[in-house]
Amino acid sequence: MKLQFWGVRGYVPTPGAEYLHYGGNTCCTALMGANGELVVIDTGTGFCQFGDALVGREFGRGGGEMTLLISHTYWDHILGLPFPALVHIPGNRLHIYGPDSTRGSLQMVYDGMLSPVYSPVYGLAHIGATHSFQPISTTPFMVGGLRISAMPLSQRKHSPIWAYRVEEGSRSVVYITDVRYTNDLIWQQALHFADRASILVHSAPYTRHEQVQDYGHSRVEDAIELAQKAGAEQLMLFHHAPTRTDAQLHAIVKHYRDRLVTQGSGLLLDAAREGEEIEV
Ligand SMILES: [Zn+2]
Repeated sequence: MKLQFWGVRGYVPTPGAEYLHYGGNTCCTALMGANGELVVIDTGTGFCQFGDALVGREFGRGGGEMTLLISHTYWDHILGLPFPALVHIPGNRLHIYGPDSTRGSLQMVYDGMLSPVYSPVYGLAHIGATHSFQPISTTPFMVGGLRISAMPLSQRKHSPIWAYRVEEGSRSVVYITDVRYTNDLIWQQALHFADRASILVHSAPYTRHEQVQDYGHSRVEDAIELAQKAGAEQLMLFHHAPTRTDAQLHAIVKHYRDRLVTQGSGLLLDAAREGEEIEV
């Protein structure tokens, strides 16, 4: 299984010379199975370039198929869906999984995003690709040889947030975003869900030293502690704050790597970078 990062920024896209190394597109992570399975987690603005990169393949001829796993419906995790050409090419098939909320289903959210108020597409009914929406549940399912499992991270019914685990054989990627470990139950569930992950992709826009107004994110130290306690091999920090420059991210990675070395920890640590591919 291969993992590709197409968008690693949180909140809003962040163009600018100081952000070029890690990239400015919002959340989009792709997983490719050994048999060509394609699973995409979140469709932030990174999905635009990812989708366009696929048009040279079967997606350009209307023969592509992908599974989309949506963690939640804040803008930085959904905004990219309508833009790539593949979404408008008849014959392509999109299987979209994610949480419904008390304010409306996942399908309604995407449909609303394409309403005439926001978009000339005039709604999901007008995109060319065949698409289906399935409410996510805790029942694991298979996409080819990839085993997908999911876990709710937030109790807020108007904005549920889910984590995903994708496994191929003994290798696994766990994706946890937009969580604040405000109670022990969520922490224990996350710990169990991330158990011995090959790669843990975890949002961590800030460190504990930073006094910032924030709406529900864990800190770099939380992600490291979770990865260590879960026995993960590698931690990839993502959902970088829009104010975080390349130089600052370099410094954060170095600081916490040095600390891991001092602790004698074998955990591999890095900050996710747009365009990066990792063999899981
Ligand atoms: Zn976010």
